[in-house]
Amino acid sequence: MVRYQISSHDPASHYFSVSMTIENPDPEGQRLRLPNWIPGSYMIRDFSRNLLDLQASVDGAALKIEQHDKSNWQVESYVGAIRIDYKVYALDLSVRAAHLDHTHGYYNGSSVFLEAVGQGDAACEVLIERPAPDYCRDWKLATSLPRNGAAAWDFGEYRAADYDELIDHPVEMGTFERIAFEACGVPHDIILSGRFSCDHDRLAADLKQVCEHHIRFFGEPAPMDYYQFQVLAVGDGYGGLEHRASTSLIASRNSLPQVGVEEVSDDYREFLGLCSHEYFHTWNVKRIKPAAYQPYDLQQEVYTDLLWAFEGITSYYDDLALVRSGLITHDSYLELLARTMTRVQRGRGRQRQSTAESSFNTWTKFYQQDENAANAIVSYYAKGSLIAACIDLKLRQASGGERSLDDVMRRLWNDYRETGEGISSNRIQQLVSEIAGQDLDGFIQPMIYGTDELPLVELLQSAGIEVTQRVAINSQDKGGKAAEGELPQVDFGAMLKDDSGGILIQRLREGGSAQIAGLSPGDQLIAVDGLRLNLGQLEQRLLRAQPGDRWQLHAFRRDELHVFELALQAAETDTFVLQADEDEGTPRYGWLAG
Ligand SMILES: [Zn+2]
Repeated sequence: MVRYQISSHDPASHYFSVSMTIENPDPEGQRLRLPNWIPGSYMIRDFSRNLLDLQASVDGAALKIEQHDKSNWQVESYVGAIRIDYKVYALDLSVRAAHLDHTHGYYNGSSVFLEAVGQGDAACEVLIERPAPDYCRDWKLATSLPRNGAAAWDFGEYRAADYDELIDHPVEMGTFERIAFEACGVPHDIILSGRFSCDHDRLAADLKQVCEHHIRFFGEPAPMDYYQFQVLAVGDGYGGLEHRASTSLIASRNSLPQVGVEEVSDDYREFLGLCSHEYFHTWNVKRIKPAAYQPYDLQQEVYTDLLWAFEGITSYYDDLALVRSGLITHDSYLELLARTMTRVQRGRGRQRQSTAESSFNTWTKFYQQDENAANAIVSYYAKGSLIAACIDLKLRQASGGERSLDDVMRRLWNDYRETGEGISSNRIQQLVSEIAGQDLDGFIQPMIYGTDELPLVELLQSAGIEVTQRVAINSQDKGGKAAEGELPQVDFGAMLKDDSGGILIQRLREGGSAQIAGLSPGDQLIAVDGLRLNLGQLEQRLLRAQPGDRWQLHAFRRDELHVFELALQAAETDTFVLQADEDEGTPRYGWLAG
C-alpha cells in the first residue's frame, strides 16, 4: 500500500504540496521516480523539472536522498514506513500536466505523484485535501478516480488499484458546472470550468448521441462503468487527452453551443469532433494498443510505427460518428473530409515521410514541429485518417457494402477482450485482408510505409462522391467549399500574416516562389515593386498576376533590409471539394450511413 496526500496552502502561488507514505519500503533503499512523459502525448516533458523540496523522513527524522538522474531518486535504506514530502509547481495550462491558481486546480497524476519503484502494482490511497484559503470553500472536485470515502464531488479519500490507474484519472477542482447524461445505461458527466455560457441540454443531448454511437460501434457493454468529460473553456485554445474513463479538453468558449442557436457552427462541430475523438480512444489506444505500450515505460521514449492507426483511425471515426449519428449533414461531413485532404495535399512532407515513419519519429518531429514541418513531415493524424477512409471504402467496395473498417475495429476489440494483448505492427493489415477475403497487402502496405499519393480520389468516386481539385482562393481557404468569384493563377508559396509595419513570413513551401526567391521564415516583407502593402493588398495583387510575372520585394531580415527578385509560379490545384452525386443523393455501399 502506498498512501498519498495532496493539498495546497496557497493556490495563487501555484504549488501543490504532496506527501507520500510507503509502508514497506525496499530495505535496500527505496527508489522513487516521476514520469518523463504522459501517455497520449508523445514528447519527453521532464515533469520532474517542477518538483521541489523533496524530503524523506521517519517520525520527523530526516532520511538521506540520493539523486540518480533527472527523474530518479533513492532514499536511504530503512525498515519500516517512510514519509516523502515535496512540492510541485503547477502553471501549465494544458491537458498534459498540472495547473493551479486562485480560480481552479487541475492535475494529471503523472505530474504530481512519485512512483515507489517496485511497488507500482501496489494499491494506492489518495487523500485530496481542499486547498486552505477561504476562497476555496465552495470548490468541488471532479475526477473518475474511484472514491474511497469521499462524498460525491467533494475532497476526501480516493483510491487506485495501482500506480498506472492512479495517474490515468486527472483531477479538476474549482467551481465548475456539471451536466449529467446517460449513454447506453452508463452515467456520464460533463465538467465545464472557466468563463463561458453554454446550452447544457443541447450539449448533453449531442454528446449522448456521440457516446452511444461509439459504445454500440464496439458493442455493449461499454468498457467503463462511468465516464467524465473535463472541459476547460478559454478564449483561444484547443486540445484533448484521452484516459481510461475520462478525457481532459481545452476548448474555446466560442465552440460551446449557445441557447437559442439551432445550427451547428463550425466551432461547435470542431468541439464535438474533439469530444468524439477522445471518447473513441477509450477503446482505440487506451485498451486496444500497440504491444510496445504494454506496459508503458514512462522514463524514456517508446517507439511504435502504429500511431497512424491509433490516431489516424480515431481521427477518421471522430467526424464520421457525427454524420452517422445525424448531428451533422453529409455535406458538412464531406467538407471536413475535403479539408483534411487539402491539408495533407499542401504539405510537401507527405512526399518525404510515410505515416509509419511519422509515428516512429513523433517524439522529435510531429511533437516538435517548427516552421519547416509541412515540408519535412506528414501528420499521422491527417494522413492516417485518409488511409482509414481508403481502407473503409475499399472494403465496402470489394464486398458490395457488406464489410467495412468497422469489422476490423470490432475484431481488434474482441481480440483485446479475449487476450488483453497489444497489437503487432502488421496486425491491422492482416485483419483487413482476412475480412476482405482477399490479399490486400499490395493495397495497404504502400499507404502506410510509402509516400505515393493515396488512392482516395478513385475510391470516393466509386462511392458516388464527386471530387473537385481547385486552386486556393486565398490564405484563409482551407478547402471543402466550392469557390465563388475569381481565383488567383499564381501562388506566393508562403504562409503570411499581417505584422506591425509589414507582412510576416511564417512558413515557406519548399520549391515555392518565395523560397526560390531567397526569402526565409521570419522575414518581414514591407514592399512589392516599391510600394508598401498589407496582406489583403498582396492578395489583391496576386489575383491580377500571371505565372512568370516578376516582382521586386523589400524585406527585413532581423534589422537588415534586403531586396529579392520573385518569379511567380502557377498556383497548384491543392484544394479539394467533395460533393455527393446529385442523382444518387446518398453515397454507395452504406458509407456515412448510421
Ligand atoms: Zn488522439
